[in-house]
Amino acid sequence: MLEFPQETITAFSISALATYVLVPELNCAFDMGECLMDAVPLDHVFITHAHGDHTRCLLRHEALRRLMGMAPATYYIPRQTEEGFLGLAEAWRKLENVRDKNYRPPNFHPMAEGEVIWLHRQLAAKAFKVDHTLPSLGYTLFDVRKKLKAEFQGRPGRELAELRRKGVTFEDEVWLPRMTFIGDSTIDTLYRERHVGESRILFLEVTYLMEDERDIARQRGHTHLEDLLAFLRECPDVLNNQHIILKHFSMRYDRRLILHTLKHRLPKPFLERTHILV
Ligand SMILES: [Zn+2]
Ligand SMILES: [Zn+2]
Repeated sequence: MLEFPQETITAFSISALATYVLVPELNCAFDMGECLMDAVPLDHVFITHAHGDHTRCLLRHEALRRLMGMAPATYYIPRQTEEGFLGLAEAWRKLENVRDKNYRPPNFHPMAEGEVIWLHRQLAAKAFKVDHTLPSLGYTLFDVRKKLKAEFQGRPGRELAELRRKGVTFEDEVWLPRMTFIGDSTIDTLYRERHVGESRILFLEVTYLMEDERDIARQRGHTHLEDLLAFLRECPDVLNNQHIILKHFSMRYDRRLILHTLKHRLPKPFLERTHILV
């Protein structure tokens, strides 16, 4: 459990086992490697990529909501995976012998890089490209606020209401990056998608920590601790996040080894803002 002033996040992420992140305040989840009961009420599920440790319980989420008579959730998926997910849902339906005439496939929303969707009037999500071994997206959630343009500040409400009636635009829309979730990824994503460093909260993977695992990290499309350290040296001004959550460690390591390694290797100013998901 990660408790921030505005969010209470339930998160789990171990490579090959499962990844899921639940954010009840935003009515959303990222990935669905397991489906806790706390995940069931969340209406928006953002899937980063099709590997089983990130998606295995997506259909369980959908089925539990159906059983409970809830409206379907929306599952945002990389657009290249739509056919596969629909095929999976259909195979499962046949296997379970569901003959309900009213059966509908899960509500998949294929997403493209750069696409924006609105969760409500003041909360938007934008997808961006992530480098892994198969099509993968990251997502940034933005608080969207209206702000008076400088020339209208201090004007009384009556006058603004009059301007509104006349169709005058006296407000700017401000997009405040609140949370970015990157699933499995090589370090290349950070070099290209530098905007992720402006989110208040950032989820990053560091699957491998040991010196002899650099090749395997590359081959499997993951980040090695040395990649992250090199990025922090080369681009010290990019990650301005208040909170950085490191996750998706290899299941070979135990908790003590992960904490010990990261506490000794990460630069102190970075470590102070870092939460280690073990
Ligand atoms: Zn994974
Ligand atoms: Zn993966």
